[in-house]
Amino acid sequence: MRLAGRMSRLGTETAFEVLARAQALERQGKHILHLELGEPDFPSPDSAIEAGVTALHSGLTKYTTSPGLLDLRSQIAEIEGPRRGLRFAPDQVVVTPGGKPIMFYTILALVDEGDEVLYPDPGFPIYESMIGFAGGTPVPYPLREANSFQIDFDHIKAHLTPRTRLVILNSPSNPTGGVESRESLARLAELLLQRNAWILSDEIYSHFIFEGCHASIASFDTLASRTIILDGFSKTYSMTGWRLGFGLMPAELAQRITQLVINSVSCTPVFTQRGGLAALKTRDQTIPPMIEEYRRRREVVVDGLNAMPGVRCQKPGGTFYAFPNVTSFGKSSKEIADYLLDQGGVACLAGTAFGREGEGYLRLSFGTSMENIREGLKRIGAALGRLS
Ligand code: PLP
Repeated sequence: MRLAGRMSRLGTETAFEVLARAQALERQGKHILHLELGEPDFPSPDSAIEAGVTALHSGLTKYTTSPGLLDLRSQIAEIEGPRRGLRFAPDQVVVTPGGKPIMFYTILALVDEGDEVLYPDPGFPIYESMIGFAGGTPVPYPLREANSFQIDFDHIKAHLTPRTRLVILNSPSNPTGGVESRESLARLAELLLQRNAWILSDEIYSHFIFEGCHASIASFDTLASRTIILDGFSKTYSMTGWRLGFGLMPAELAQRITQLVINSVSCTPVFTQRGGLAALKTRDQTIPPMIEEYRRRREVVVDGLNAMPGVRCQKPGGTFYAFPNVTSFGKSSKEIADYLLDQGGVACLAGTAFGREGEGYLRLSFGTSMENIREGLKRIGAALGRLS
């Protein structure tokens, strides 16, 4: 089959491939524990389910406005701006089916053939995929354990060039769980203010921070005028399957991103948006218990991993991921992840699913029950014990 050249530059997300392999093993009768998916195990809020069902029954089954319902955009602006020390108007909000389209649309709208885009490595694999697909030049910047998985300011400074069009940040980070400090963001903001590059700040895990509170690069000086904040309902409200996300950005760009919405999906389903609106209203009841539960799970996962000979794991400051170092086993991350799936009955991701700098690490999601986590750790410990 002859495909357009750009298809050869399109990557993928390994989590879905590992899930398919795990399911194939399950079909053969094997019991697999799923620590691979970046998906919270909590139910979606009752308020969202009720509002979504009511919307469907009342006939909200048609096309709707492309940037999103005004009610929803107003609520998002009202809640999500002040959380970051910012003010947004509804015309600075674009609602999309999931957070991912904001990534795609931003890159398509801003990055020309040959433009350079800085992005985190290890980082969400879709960044590199979309940069390449759009014809941009992916320029990875490392997030290293020795630096608590924080941005290396000097590295970024050295790799900013007149061709740098976009800098992608992701704090809290998937897969490392690292959280950028306010000071580190302030320093970076000062540097970026002197350049022309735009910033895509992926803040989809911003509610899941275990110490201190979230800081957005957009809150520094005038940087909001060049920043797109990506956020959404998938993780915060455990609504991954509803497909509901949003971007906060300058109004002029929001109009052009809306044009991309019109050209691709027309709009985000209206019952989904009604569900999201209801979820926002009950956020004080649903979010804090999730954070507390993730905090408890984090302790169990990190302590459990560090108790295994040859494994070292930093405490993630945010998200629901652990990123243990397994270099001592002398095998690649992929070999260890495959071995754990085939021989240990535990699905997890190789660090290299997130870029070259992920070599030597695994990503374990604790978006699953404590029972599964304890059993998963037991299996990993036993399987790694047989390796060493
Ligand atoms: N950004 C990051 C860092 C993610 O980990 C994910 C999902 O795993 C997304 C964006 C996409 O979220 P959504 O499912 O809302 O498209």
